[in-house]
Amino acid sequence: MYSLVSLGWSDFFAEGFVPFGAQGCFPARVAIQQRGHYLLYAEDGEWRAEVAGKIHYTARGMEDFPVVGDWVAVRKSGSPGNGVITGILRRKTEFARKAAGFRTNKQVLSANIDRVFLVASCDEEFNTKRLERYLVLARTSGAEPIIVLNKADLAGQPADFLEEARGIAGESTVLLASAKQSHGLEDFRRCLNEGITGALLGSSGVGKSTIINTLLGVEKLRTGDVRDYDGKGRHTTTRRELVLIPSGGLLIDTPGLRELQLWEADAGVQATFDDIEDIALGCRFTDCRHETEPGCAVRKALDEELLDQGRMESYRKMQRELAHATRKASRPASLAEKKRIKKITADQKRGYKRKS
Ligand code: GDP
Ligand code: ZN
Repeated sequence: MYSLVSLGWSDFFAEGFVPFGAQGCFPARVAIQQRGHYLLYAEDGEWRAEVAGKIHYTARGMEDFPVVGDWVAVRKSGSPGNGVITGILRRKTEFARKAAGFRTNKQVLSANIDRVFLVASCDEEFNTKRLERYLVLARTSGAEPIIVLNKADLAGQPADFLEEARGIAGESTVLLASAKQSHGLEDFRRCLNEGITGALLGSSGVGKSTIINTLLGVEKLRTGDVRDYDGKGRHTTTRRELVLIPSGGLLIDTPGLRELQLWEADAGVQATFDDIEDIALGCRFTDCRHETEPGCAVRKALDEELLDQGRMESYRKMQRELAHATRKASRPASLAEKKRIKKITADQKRGYKRKS
């Protein structure tokens, strides 16, 4: 039905799978996750599955449950097409955010995305600061960002948008496209060949759905629904969140990915603002905040207009957000964490009793 390679399988996952293979499990990829129910793609077709009790028992939090894009090890259970997820293979990349609510907990939105297409439109909505933020998110996840400047047909001078985007893109590729006129999508397809998993990020209205539908050739995102998935006789329809593209590759499109927040994006910030980080190497103090410190190379560059004031401001804004996220993350253990610790302690006590 599906070749593992077309589903994104690689040596990386094969290696992680070895111990599970020895236990008679088979590999599968999560296409939909819904309240503890999973729809999986495997070599022999689609499977429905739930996670094994062992995973519930040892999970530290939400991040230890499978999400869309994960490769999992599956054991067959009673009825045909039904399985139990016994393990999650190590993730190659991970899109996460602060979980909603009062406690800071990591929520993984999707896993194993290779390339993130950051979609922007060539109109008055175009905003390099926003693009910079998306670049940080993508790089933090481990995925390779590719900027897609859509609606090129609306721009008098698309080259101007291209130039602006390249100014902040660093090493990343920038593509010009018009999804509505099916222009530039060949380049897009070249970046999404067999076995590559992509995702589209960008503000609402920039043309993400139009691009996906063009790639699928039909309105598959709407029509590829799964019926009666909850297995309780209720007729629910669910949109597939991991879809195979006919010309090769896969796309992940989950609601959560559309409303991403920053989560420990340090590594990404450095890659995106490496020009500022480079200048800062010349500051007298290694912990220079580039405010009133003597011998500050960054302030000097700003004074001499070698560094753009606006760019410096977005750098500062990013750092403030990071500091905020980090402070939140280092608050006392969350409720879930406390429960887990309590449980482990209780288990240990029981163990000691047995021994004595
Ligand atoms: P999404 O919110 O990012 O998924 O955006 P949509 O795909 O729903 O597109 C928003 C609007 O922009 C729709 O009316 C599309 O027809 C339009 N649109 C999408 N791509 C293009 C394009 O390349 N050129 C023009 N002119 N309009 C486009
Ligand atoms: Zn400085």
